[in-house]
Amino acid sequence: MDKEKPKYIRDGRAPIPEKEITSKIMSKIKGKDTKPEIRFRKMLWNYGVKGYRIHWKKVPGNPDIAFPGKKIAIFVNGCFWHRHSNCKLASTPGSNTDFWEKKFAANVKRDKRNKDDLEKMGWRVIIVWECQIKKQENLENLVKSRIAPLLKSDFIRFVAEKPSKQYNSLK
Ligand SMILES: [Zn+2]
Repeated sequence: MDKEKPKYIRDGRAPIPEKEITSKIMSKIKGKDTKPEIRFRKMLWNYGVKGYRIHWKKVPGNPDIAFPGKKIAIFVNGCFWHRHSNCKLASTPGSNTDFWEKKFAANVKRDKRNKDDLEKMGWRVIIVWECQIKKQENLENLVKSRIAPLLKSDFIRFVAEKPSKQYNSLK
């Protein structure tokens, strides 16, 4: 192993921000980046949804949540990294702007390619944005209105029950 102090953070491509404050913001963003997906999965769990694979590597893009039998892929995207358009969470850092713009463009291109590839394979692709599910009730509505109809009768609890109180204690 190279013992040199790493020059890069995250996925090996993002430069360490020069200012400490930026670094703090970045690590906060990183933390938030994973959280929406976990909250989303907890909501699925709460409704008794099972049979999905996490970060499934057998199809393009390694969908965050994949239902292989039904060919449904769900990506829970952080607005910053995946560049949610017209979203205030998708700001561009003030330093290393060139780097970020290139990186963001590559992210967007890759996301689109993965979506196209999946659709060519007959998959339905659902993109869920971090900002859309920030509020717990919005997350629940989205799961009920967009995910439940796709899963239909497999998951009767979708229509029959409201989330249990158990879920609230997980927040
Ligand atoms: Zn957003």
